[in-house]
Amino acid sequence: MSTNKPVHAPQSRFPVVDGCLHVGGLPLTRLAQRVGSTPFYAYDRKVLSDRVRQVRDCLPDGVRLHYSMKANPMPALVQHMAALVDGIDVASGGELKVALDAGMAPACISFAGPGKSIAELAQAVAAGVQVHAESERELRLLARIGADLGIAPLVVIRVNPDFELKGSGMRMGGGAKQFGIDAEEMPRVLALARELGLDVLGFHIFSGSQSLKAEAIIEAQTQTFALAQQLAQHLSQPLRVLNIGGGFGIPYFPGETPLDLAPVAAHLRQSLPRVRQALPQAEVVIELGRYLVGEAGVYVTRVVDRKVSRGQVFLITDGGLHHHLAASGNFGQVIRKNYPVAIANRLDSSDTEVASVVGPLCTPLDLLADKMELPRADVDDLVAVFQSGAYGLSASPGGFLSHPDALEVLV
Ligand SMILES: *Cc1c(COP(=O)(O)O)cnc(C)c1O
Repeated sequence: MSTNKPVHAPQSRFPVVDGCLHVGGLPLTRLAQRVGSTPFYAYDRKVLSDRVRQVRDCLPDGVRLHYSMKANPMPALVQHMAALVDGIDVASGGELKVALDAGMAPACISFAGPGKSIAELAQAVAAGVQVHAESERELRLLARIGADLGIAPLVVIRVNPDFELKGSGMRMGGGAKQFGIDAEEMPRVLALARELGLDVLGFHIFSGSQSLKAEAIIEAQTQTFALAQQLAQHLSQPLRVLNIGGGFGIPYFPGETPLDLAPVAAHLRQSLPRVRQALPQAEVVIELGRYLVGEAGVYVTRVVDRKVSRGQVFLITDGGLHHHLAASGNFGQVIRKNYPVAIANRLDSSDTEVASVVGPLCTPLDLLADKMELPRADVDDLVAVFQSGAYGLSASPGGFLSHPDALEVLV
């Protein structure tokens, strides 16, 4: 076997041998045979483990690393992650069950998310997981449920900060938001929690997601520490939990460059002693979703037809928007950009053409690659969509057009 330098493979975590992408140590053609049908998502254990190790090597000692399950809730993957990280963040009763089934210690599971039902809150208190209260209603319910069950709930308050993670792909804090309790309301709300007899362990301050800019993350973390110290003065007990969010992004589109973790880690290392001085009992938590799992997954689909329409080549595959909404452009993004896509079994081919990769749905939005230069492909070739380990299958409209589900494998 010779290792060929991929001619038309986007930067990815997966090796290419003899022109074929390898996932989980297997040529993708062989993996596809083993899976038995396309399309499928494949997640690579080694890539997952390497990534967690890389992040841990970078982070200062004592910072706890949590996995945000909504990025990828596949139970086998969650179980793999549970053995690598210090905790799991869940956002529904269903995710909570997966985290518990994966063997994560209840006290290391945190449950955030607006609009939790009474049943979800009771499930969380009974299981002994940390509940990140997002409103006064949730605080009142937690006090009542705790009294009913005779269990002191582990309460953390999600704070809607008065700043945001600048330039982030998704703003989850700052301004008016459905998430958390506004920072300026916190003195009053903490007094209410005290009246309710709740022991508030600390704060969860998440200011944004999908940032590739170290300086923006550093600025948000600085503001987060300042806000936490200010709010901690209103706690009746020392602050014990401080979840500072995450927001580390991964590159998806041409021209995007990976986040440089080194300055973020250096800044954390520099800030922590002062934070520890002010908040000696605080356990600092970083929660990451896509950064841990996004690059470890590929979506694999097979070419079922090849058409030329007025000079434009279309590779029609058995997978598409219904399994991978994000790669298609989220139902008509204003400016659609191509995810990294490759013809996985022809990576060393120099016979290229410009082609569009589409799915089987009756909508022009079902597009996996728009006029991309790719090795000339034909029926039965495999198309790989990279950066697909997060917000893939579970974040796609699987019911749209009633095609079969995609499989998922952890290899
Ligand atoms: C979704 C979410 C995350 C994970 O975001 P990523 O961009 O995948 O890292 C972290 N924290 C909270 C509160 C979230 O809702």
